[in-house]
Amino acid sequence: MKKIILSFLPLFLVIVCNGQPKNRDKPAQQTQMPKLVVGIVVDQMRYDFLYRYYDRLSDNGFKRLMQGGVNCTNMQYNYLPTNTAPGHASIYTGCPPAIHGIAGNDWYDKRLAKMVYCTQDDSVEGVGMSGQAGKMSPRNMKVTTIGDQIKLATGMRSKNIGIALKDRGAILPGGHVADAAYWFESDQGNFGTSTYYMKELPTWVTAFNNKKEADKYINATWNTLYPIASYVNSDADNVGYEKPLSGASEPVFPHQYSKGKKNNYDMLRTSPFGNTITADFAIAALQGEGLGKDDITDYLTISFSSTDYIGHSFGPNSIESEDTYYRLDQDIARVLNALDKEVGKDNYLLFLTADHGICDVPGHSLKYKMPGGVLPKEVLYAQLNDNLNKAFGVGKYILEYEDNQFFVNKELLIANKVDYDDFYRTLEASLMANDGIAKVIDLSNISNSLYPSFFLEKIRNGIHPQRSGDVLIILEPGWIVGYTTGASHGSMYEYDSHVPGIFYGWGLKHSEVPERVQITDIAATIATLLHLQPPTGSIGNPIPEVIRAR
Ligand code: ZN
Ligand code: ZN
Ligand code: ZN
Repeated sequence: MKKIILSFLPLFLVIVCNGQPKNRDKPAQQTQMPKLVVGIVVDQMRYDFLYRYYDRLSDNGFKRLMQGGVNCTNMQYNYLPTNTAPGHASIYTGCPPAIHGIAGNDWYDKRLAKMVYCTQDDSVEGVGMSGQAGKMSPRNMKVTTIGDQIKLATGMRSKNIGIALKDRGAILPGGHVADAAYWFESDQGNFGTSTYYMKELPTWVTAFNNKKEADKYINATWNTLYPIASYVNSDADNVGYEKPLSGASEPVFPHQYSKGKKNNYDMLRTSPFGNTITADFAIAALQGEGLGKDDITDYLTISFSSTDYIGHSFGPNSIESEDTYYRLDQDIARVLNALDKEVGKDNYLLFLTADHGICDVPGHSLKYKMPGGVLPKEVLYAQLNDNLNKAFGVGKYILEYEDNQFFVNKELLIANKVDYDDFYRTLEASLMANDGIAKVIDLSNISNSLYPSFFLEKIRNGIHPQRSGDVLIILEPGWIVGYTTGASHGSMYEYDSHVPGIFYGWGLKHSEVPERVQITDIAATIATLLHLQPPTGSIGNPIPEVIRAR
């Protein structure tokens, strides 16, 4: 009897299998993909800015996304260092630096024994730009992105374009098979790329550059959009802990831009118009490349970099920062409008997030009796070297210092017959003598650290064996290593880790997700929505509320 059943089984399976694919064979399979996936990163945007500035946002920018999409109000970075390159890589690869290898904006490569910039690639040349600015590619990233996976799923027919003022903000999101990444070069004020992607710029890029928009903005004056006295949720305009623009004596409106002594367009980065020209270029790309025009899913990533430059100079409580977000709101509204027009309202799937947040300017915290402070890098470093030399003889024991990590010269320790445990105890004691250091962590021995496992997990996620340091200092909340003017990021604390997380369009219904989700969940969510193979290093979980919103 069993034999008879088994012998009928293949026939039974044929019937079932033949029955099923009928519906799936229809072009319906194609319409289950959006025409375009759009990823927007706002460099340095904290999630609370959406609410702090809410009353003055238009209905067509951030608010449209918040009210129309799935708004994850507790999107968190799950590693350190919370910096631009690791942030962009993690959003689009669904894994942290320990896996994707973008361990910082810069790192000391232990095998090459030198400092490396995240997207530096000396085997390529700039296209539309010269020198080091053009020698860029995604080759240092060890895994694929969601854009690479869309390419794979479409037999490489999908178009994949990345755009930002910052090279790393344009290059890392696209991934390895991207058709192009375009970033801003300061000498001519143009957008360009590298030979990794192409030999010459497409005509639409040349036409955009020929319009010389950068000239218009570099000679502009930045005044507040609303009467300055009405910026009541921000600090006073002229405070000693804001960093004036280069050439200015005070950090006050109206801010003037110019090509300055260097006779270049660098200042445009620290201007809200840097975001405007980015939006203009993204809209030109949409039209020039015909993105989302057919049924093959295309991919466009935009990173707004100027929010970061402005935040570093003036801090998150400045009128400058507040006004920048009102202006960016208008730029985002224009991008959404263009997407509606060029691709169609429900034909694109969009997400918006940030690569990290920002701390309060320490001077501002101290003024209001809140904890915080500044550790000058030079003081920290010089004093440490002094102590190490006294204890173990003269030598360069610390090869590099980056992202609060020390790269130890282990060969010198061996040569001088210095026991590592002795060395580490001296180093730890020297560092802990400073105010503002909460904890020193031996990265070769994380498990033995008396520190909350919540943070140890984040440290493990952020440390790459070849590209991260040997010893890590954790600052107290509110502290930065740097200068007394301006703000910084990089820590594991809420102000650096908590960013917007909004999924919008392609039929997603509005909801709010208050549960904690992680930055590495974004790529997994997009992959699940589109039924793609997730990126090669992905460890994220699809966010159920987003999947069920369709
Ligand atoms: Zn950034
Ligand atoms: Zn100011
Ligand atoms: Zn930054």
